[in-house]
Amino acid sequence: MDAKDMNCNSDQSHEHSYTCDECMNVLHMVIDKETDANEEFKQHLKDCLPCLEKYNLDSAIKEVLAKKCDQHEPPQKLVHEIKDKIFNNVE
Ligand SMILES: [Zn+2]
Repeated sequence: MDAKDMNCNSDQSHEHSYTCDECMNVLHMVIDKETDANEEFKQHLKDCLPCLEKYNLDSAIKEVLAKKCDQHEPPQKLVHEIKDKIFNNVE
């Protein structure tokens, strides 16, 4: 694997595309629905796999958190773990 391909910060071939730093700034705003994904942002995700993966991961986390907040109750697994800890401490 070529090390140069791993660092898209040094890629100057796409003049109209964001750098990774700029992309990350927009990414957070897009995920928080503060702004819409623009063409430069989409173009960067097409060209830059690390940023695309970051976007997919952050979107997924945001979705999971949103669903958890809607439910207003702790996951059963967590409840069991807490109960186990309490019983273990008593013994
Ligand atoms: Zn990038």
